[in-house]
Amino acid sequence: MANIHVYIELVENMPARASLEALGEARRIASFVGATLYAVLPCVTPPTYGEHDVIAELGRHGADKVVVVTGPTLGEPVLFASHGQAAAAACEEVPPALILLAATPGGRDLAPRLAARLGAALISEPSIEFGPRGELVFSRLVHGRRYRRRIAVDDLERPAVATLTAGSYFASPASDDAEVLALGASIQAYQLQEIGRSPDPFAPLDSAEVVVCAGAGVSPEVFRLLADLARALGGELAVTRSAAVRGLAPLDRVVGITGRAVSPRLYLAFGASGSPGHLLAIAPDTTIVAINRDPAAPILRSATYGLVADVGSAAAELLASLKPGHGCSIPSRSTLPAPPADGARGAKGVAR
Ligand SMILES: Cc1cc2nc3c(=O)[nH]c(=O)nc-3n(C[C@H](O)[C@H](O)[C@H](O)COP(=O)(O)OP(=O)(O)OC[C@H]3O[C@@H](n4cnc5c(N)ncnc54)[C@H](O)[C@@H]3O)c2cc1C
Repeated sequence: MANIHVYIELVENMPARASLEALGEARRIASFVGATLYAVLPCVTPPTYGEHDVIAELGRHGADKVVVVTGPTLGEPVLFASHGQAAAAACEEVPPALILLAATPGGRDLAPRLAARLGAALISEPSIEFGPRGELVFSRLVHGRRYRRRIAVDDLERPAVATLTAGSYFASPASDDAEVLALGASIQAYQLQEIGRSPDPFAPLDSAEVVVCAGAGVSPEVFRLLADLARALGGELAVTRSAAVRGLAPLDRVVGITGRAVSPRLYLAFGASGSPGHLLAIAPDTTIVAINRDPAAPILRSATYGLVADVGSAAAELLASLKPGHGCSIPSRSTLPAPPADGARGAKGVAR
């Protein structure tokens, strides 16, 4: 694999945290397979050097080279309409075997269209590992998280575009300075009409370390307990689509393929059946604890741990155990048991 690109998003003229995480993971891959790592930096005006030197920052975080693409539409927000040409121009200049983007709203908009334009394969938010031949393998849980599909990048015989879940990788500060490759690509000036912009009050869900999710089996009274539980755990409250449709919370709180994607360390699912539409939006390395009164509920086969219980009593007991003096806390990601590396996920323990 010769070249790897990481498309960098800027927030207030500095690389977004999620982009630096993608760069850190790309550094690990590039070092393993012996590839050159390019950070693709889109800017409205050429970057300045000095105190807030964005190129030096990318070099410190592992880039071998930085491709600077300038154009009038390359500011925020990141959309294929405005940034697609920049990503494609960088690919023409330095053809990559692999392009990584952070799975931000911008990255998710850009990646599939870029893959279509390049004739590349698209892999959304995979787990990344190396196979026995040293080949790069992307895998994803499929069929309600019960099976894992593996794709070796070598076998694709075409470039691959992958989005990486924000918060799941480490930005790796390295010491080398990156070489700058200023690319004077002519980016066509699109006329984008902004029809509105408002802050997203539920944005903290996307990066929460703990998520407490209420399904349709949760009543409004128990939902209030879950709100207390989320607060006590320093986490965020989410719902399934069915719970939102029943009026438990706004649709903006829905986790799922038509809602938000989350990547917490711990996901507590109360009264949710475990539909693929819901579970597919939870990052693969998240520890899922499911509470359901029906021992045959599919979520009890997909979750890391399952508890067959009434949601109200389970929530009340859990809340009580978190009161000061009970010594119960959420372990760090490293001390949480890792999900099984292969095959069926299945609940490791189902308590009744
Ligand atoms: C195109 C499409 C996109 C979709 N996108 C999404 C999406 O993004 N997100 C999403 O969530 N859904 C999505 N859905 C809907 C999805 O298919 C399911 O219908 C939905 O996720 C089910 O929600 P649920 O698990 O809360 O409800 P249910 O399936 O009704 O499950 C409720 C569960 O609660 C349990 N229960 C009930 N009472 C109690 C109690 N007192 N104690 C303990 N357990 C109890 C029951 O045993 C049951 O398992 C989508 C569907 C389609 C067709």
